[in-house]
Amino acid sequence: MTLLRHIATFAVIGAIMLIASSAPVTDARASRRAATRTPPTRVVIGHSVQGRPIVAWEFGRASARRKILVVGCIHGNECAGLAITAALRRQQVPNGVQLWLVPEMNPDGTAADTRQNAHGVDLNRNFPYRWQAISDPTYYSGPRAVSEPETQAAIRLVRRIRPAVTIWYHQHMDLVDMAGGDRGVARRYAQLAGLRPTCLTFLSGVETGWSNHSFPGTTSFVVELPAGPVASDALARHVRAVMAMELGQRSGSATRCDSITPAA
Ligand SMILES: [Zn+2]
Repeated sequence: MTLLRHIATFAVIGAIMLIASSAPVTDARASRRAATRTPPTRVVIGHSVQGRPIVAWEFGRASARRKILVVGCIHGNECAGLAITAALRRQQVPNGVQLWLVPEMNPDGTAADTRQNAHGVDLNRNFPYRWQAISDPTYYSGPRAVSEPETQAAIRLVRRIRPAVTIWYHQHMDLVDMAGGDRGVARRYAQLAGLRPTCLTFLSGVETGWSNHSFPGTTSFVVELPAGPVASDALARHVRAVMAMELGQRSGSATRCDSITPAA
C-alpha cells in the first residue's frame, strides 16, 4: 500500500511537471485573455497546525451572483485533484460567476503524505454537522467538532462566499458521491467526468453533510477520483464538468440516489 502510494505520488508530480513543461504555450494563451478578465486574487484563508498558509485563488468578480468552490485535496494522501485545480487556473470564468480554488486544504497532510492533519485528525470527520467521536486513527474525528484550524478555515470560507456548488476531490473510489443538496448537480458532473454517480452511506462530521444542511439551495459533493494521477483525457473531462457547474447545469432528480454505495 505504501509503495503504491509512493508510485501514485510520483505519478502526480510527473503530471504536474508535464503541465509545467507546456507552460510557455499556456502562458501565451493566458496573456491574450488577460486583457478581458480580472487576474486572480490570492487569499490566505487560514493556517495549518504547522503554520503553513491555506491559500485560495479567487477568479472573477466578487459581485458575481454564482460562486463555485473547488478543493483539490483535503486528505493529504489523495491529492490527484491538484492536477484539476492547476488546470482550472488556466480557464476563463464565465461572466456572472466567481470561481474559488483551494488546492490544498490540508497542506501539512500533503507534505507528510498522510490522510490526516498534523494533529492526526481526519479533517473530513471534524465538521460540526452530526459530528461523532471516532477514535480509529485512520478516521480520527479530533477531540471535538471543528477543533482543527484547517476545518475552521474551510468553514469560514464557505460561510463567507456561500458557494452554489462546492466540489471536493478525494481518491480512490472512482465515483461521484451525490451527497445532498441538489443531487442533479453532482449527477451532471458525473456524466461529464465519466464517473459513476451514487450516494455513499452516512458518515459523521463530513464537510458535505455540514454544508448541504447549513445552506439550503446549495450543493456540496465529493468526486472520488480513481487511484493514480489524472490522465490528460480525464483532466479535460473534469475541466468541462467544472465549467458545467459554473454554467448551472444539472441532470435528473434532485433527491433520488441512483444507487447506494457503502462508504467504507
Ligand atoms: Zn478522502
